[in-house]
Amino acid sequence: MGYAEVSVNSPVAQRRTFSYAIPSGLSIDVGQAVWVPFGDKLLQGIVLELTDYPAVEETREIVGVIEPHPILSSSQVLLARWLSEHYLSPLFDAVALMLPPGFERKVVTFISSTPHEYDMSSLTQEQRYVLGLVQRQGKGSLRKLEKTLGKKRAQTIVSQLVGRGLAVRSYELEKVKVKPKTVSYLDLAVKADEARQEAARLREKRASKQAALLDFLAQQPEPVPLAEARQRVNCDKAVADALVNKGLVTIQQIEVKREPISYQGITPSYPLALTAAQESAFKSIQSSLLQVAKGHTSPAIFLLHGVTGSGKTEIYLQALAEAVKLGKRGIVLVPEISLTPQTIERFASRFPRKVAVLHSKLSLGEQFDEWQRIRNGEFDVVIGSRSAIFAPQPDLGLIVIDEEHEWTYKQQDTPCYHARDVAVKLAELNGAVVILGSATPDIETFYQAQKGDYHLLQLPGRVTPGDGSLPQVEVVDLRDELKAGNRSIFSRSLSEAIAKAVVNREQVILFLNRRGGATFVQCRNCGFVLRCRRCEVTLTHHLAEDVLVCHQCNYKMPVPQICPRCLSRRIKFLGLGTQKLEQEASYTFPQARLQRWDTDVTKRKYSHEEILGKFRAHEADILIGTQMIAKGLDLPLVTLVGVVSADTALNLPDFRAGERTFQLLSQVAGRAGRGTLGGQVIIQTYSPEHYAIQAAAKHDYALFYDREITYRRQLRNPPFTRLASLVYTHTNDALCQREAERMKRHLLEERDSKGIADLSVIGPAPAFIHRLRGRFRWQLILRGSELSAFLSQIPIPHGWAIDIDPLGLV
Ligand code: ADP
Ligand code: ZN
Ligand code: ZN
Repeated sequence: MGYAEVSVNSPVAQRRTFSYAIPSGLSIDVGQAVWVPFGDKLLQGIVLELTDYPAVEETREIVGVIEPHPILSSSQVLLARWLSEHYLSPLFDAVALMLPPGFERKVVTFISSTPHEYDMSSLTQEQRYVLGLVQRQGKGSLRKLEKTLGKKRAQTIVSQLVGRGLAVRSYELEKVKVKPKTVSYLDLAVKADEARQEAARLREKRASKQAALLDFLAQQPEPVPLAEARQRVNCDKAVADALVNKGLVTIQQIEVKREPISYQGITPSYPLALTAAQESAFKSIQSSLLQVAKGHTSPAIFLLHGVTGSGKTEIYLQALAEAVKLGKRGIVLVPEISLTPQTIERFASRFPRKVAVLHSKLSLGEQFDEWQRIRNGEFDVVIGSRSAIFAPQPDLGLIVIDEEHEWTYKQQDTPCYHARDVAVKLAELNGAVVILGSATPDIETFYQAQKGDYHLLQLPGRVTPGDGSLPQVEVVDLRDELKAGNRSIFSRSLSEAIAKAVVNREQVILFLNRRGGATFVQCRNCGFVLRCRRCEVTLTHHLAEDVLVCHQCNYKMPVPQICPRCLSRRIKFLGLGTQKLEQEASYTFPQARLQRWDTDVTKRKYSHEEILGKFRAHEADILIGTQMIAKGLDLPLVTLVGVVSADTALNLPDFRAGERTFQLLSQVAGRAGRGTLGGQVIIQTYSPEHYAIQAAAKHDYALFYDREITYRRQLRNPPFTRLASLVYTHTNDALCQREAERMKRHLLEERDSKGIADLSVIGPAPAFIHRLRGRFRWQLILRGSELSAFLSQIPIPHGWAIDIDPLGLV
């Protein structure tokens, strides 16, 4: 008899598997989804390993298979184990990342009869009734029986029949409920002439929106999608409803095919002749793909470093085509924000009908359809955001991660995985080549490339000659503005440039980091920011106690009355949000049309595109937004980008603040001057001498990297060590602190008893977000090289959340 190690879908299973016996006659493979008894329940599980001997003496049997074929590939099984070990997450949580959408459904139990001979008279009347029923239907659901006989009774009778070998149970997942997708269309219910007359009457009654919609429909030869009509006439659905109520218009639901990519209007594209720089980068990737295919070498990881517009995407496309030629397939990850129709179109037109799209805004039905088709090998390329790395793409030969430095690749819930690290692991397990692309590579990635672990490929500049020059960047010292008596949030330089652009009918983007709400304390006279003496991170103002706190080590100090550096009294709490900025801009530039773009305005599906569409159509002069606008699309009318405060990112209490600032400023600067009008960038700051700002202004990654890596080495931050954050949450602040202190003592004892030299524990301190939804949060930071292995030996009580390789502030 064989045995299987199964990851069971139960919160008590944690990071371990359970041994089950494989009943004879059942064929079981690694990666297969099965039903297993667990306590008094029947649960889903995934087989991770087949063994000759069980890990425990007493085992129960696997009850049945959920699907005839394995759901996880063997490399995905190994990946799930690695995820659970590395990120210390429950095993099934890691497995679940790779299951088809909607897989965790209810079980339906079916009863069917066996061909056994039996003596009718030996059965009770109820037993005969049930047996007769399932014989007639071939298979009956237990739930139906329970409805007619009562739950207890039905279960008893079924058990009796099963016990006598006259019936067997089988289990199936509830069907995925996939509703057909429909689109609302508007059509006139009256003749076009009549509609026009009605429109005139409505206009007299001042129902101008209804009149406009009616006129619009009267011009259309065919029914029009409601969404399109609303956009063209700029009206709400209520306007259409009003016309329906008047009997002038009908709304019909028309079923559409569920296909996330509309291939309508997409024409095939062909590989471009590469520039010399592209060619040399491509040749390296091509040769690695070939060598791997021949089994000569293990696959390489490439870092493709080049500014926006340097031709990285063209290299991805050609590398993917190369992999396809070798019988392989690819996965392409892009940050959620980049998953725009334009990006998808570029891939879809190069690989017509061979591109699958996965992202969180698809409906469950759409995700399910795509998952099945991917597994069937229908696509050469899967493109998606973070979780697309878990797509069941067969024959994986190439993984591309565009904008690899993006923070959206890190998942915040357990397992707190980083898609880039997962990709590197998955590639190793599959023998796939990896391309990491970025204009501003993550410091840790670049360090790997410097060490020679990754192959560095550089593209020197933009491809298209007109685009060749990067925009001029001016750094404005805000301390000088104050000295000159300008108290506005706009420096003289910036306000002149805005006014000029608006007069010239050009467009402006004003950028303010979203996390600007984070309060830090700064002298308005000399720009000095208060920092912790021990950690160098900025101190955060706690309103309730009115003290300054270091969120790393819990150092506290009263709010000073005068600046420790210049003795001025102009100490200020800074924290300017985009809403405030919009207000200020409307006072300062009353003639300009403003549009705000941040998460508050983009909660709805597609509204990114709507906002961008409006701005591109020049319906606004100034676009105000958070880091979202740092990415995205070419806007040819934009000639000026203003960074209202570069300091919001710089002064976050986080060792990555410099890196974050450099990346954001570089991206923002890349937005300007993409058109023929050229462009200008103005960065406002109190720290004009800071290397992150200096390097971004000069478009000089190497300059930034050299300084940053030196600091990282000095302060022993990643990549020279690893970090883990442990956050404890409780409604009682004092209890939270005590538990954090207890945990710290425990961790240190364990460290000392195991004799681990390079491990240190920092804190406890209040987490960056000290209070969240009424609960307090305290954190410990661990530094060391083998944190996962160390922490996996330590019992972690309920209430703690662990993040391995944490990125931002929690
Ligand atoms: P990136 O991904 O680095 O931003 P892209 O691949 O999007 O760069 O290239 C920028 C622009 O240059 C695109 O419009 C692209 O079509 C064009 N382009 C890229 N490579 C070439 C080439 N070899 N010849 C001509 N145009 C190119
Ligand atoms: Zn000062
Ligand atoms: Zn400190």
